[in-house]
Amino acid sequence: MDLKLLVKDLPRTELIYWTDSYTKSFESEVVRVAPDGRKKAYLVTKASAFHAKSGGQPSDTGKITTDSGVTLDVKKVMMLNEVVTHYGSVTEGDLVKIQAGTKVKGEINWIERYSAMRKHTAGHLFDYCLEVATGKPSKTVDSWLGEPCYVTYAGKTPDESAISKAVKLEIEGIRKGLLVRVEFVSYERMLEIARDAPNIARLPKSNLMRIVTIEGCRPIPCGGTHVRNTKEIGEFQFQKIEKTPDGEAFRVYFGVE
Ligand SMILES: [Zn+2]
Repeated sequence: MDLKLLVKDLPRTELIYWTDSYTKSFESEVVRVAPDGRKKAYLVTKASAFHAKSGGQPSDTGKITTDSGVTLDVKKVMMLNEVVTHYGSVTEGDLVKIQAGTKVKGEINWIERYSAMRKHTAGHLFDYCLEVATGKPSKTVDSWLGEPCYVTYAGKTPDESAISKAVKLEIEGIRKGLLVRVEFVSYERMLEIARDAPNIARLPKSNLMRIVTIEGCRPIPCGGTHVRNTKEIGEFQFQKIEKTPDGEAFRVYFGVE
């Protein structure tokens, strides 16, 4: 399926997790459906709480049921041109019973999502702690919040004492219960607030930008899902640090318990 064609002319999806990352279920309506054989389908809804695979965050999974008796087991979620597309298998009912306007209820698999939220927030906090520990701005190259979980930073690998200082600051930051605040701004305003953010070079441009600020840390433009308070991250476990093969960056592996 050509995703570009599928989302053509559709309005941007209302991202429920942008205003509330804790929404586990939601109601909306279908704006487009494209069957993939008889038992699989691509489904676009007006609003969605499902987070697509993007920005290092794995795709949410879950299910969408329609008021016409069809259940889609959502395996993958994609985002293109600000439109969220759910892809999955039909486990109940018949695809012909879904059309534009059909009312749906979505439910996301919360355990995996909450784990991603905790790791994601831990990663942002670590960007900041590393900056403080090394005295140099952190520039993230990429990240992955699944298994394994890591953030890759541009530059030379810091020495052991800087890393242990960053880990210590991270653990303190979690213990302090720092608040995580979200605000929405224009692209221009985002540049004023967050020009030095660690991920600035990797950001897709949009008219509506979301800024996430962990209390006391640098604001970060980010569309992902985060916890409200760093206490929720739980126990931060630094695993290892590895230089990338080209020697241009280093990767910090961690977990949360
Ligand atoms: Zn984020």
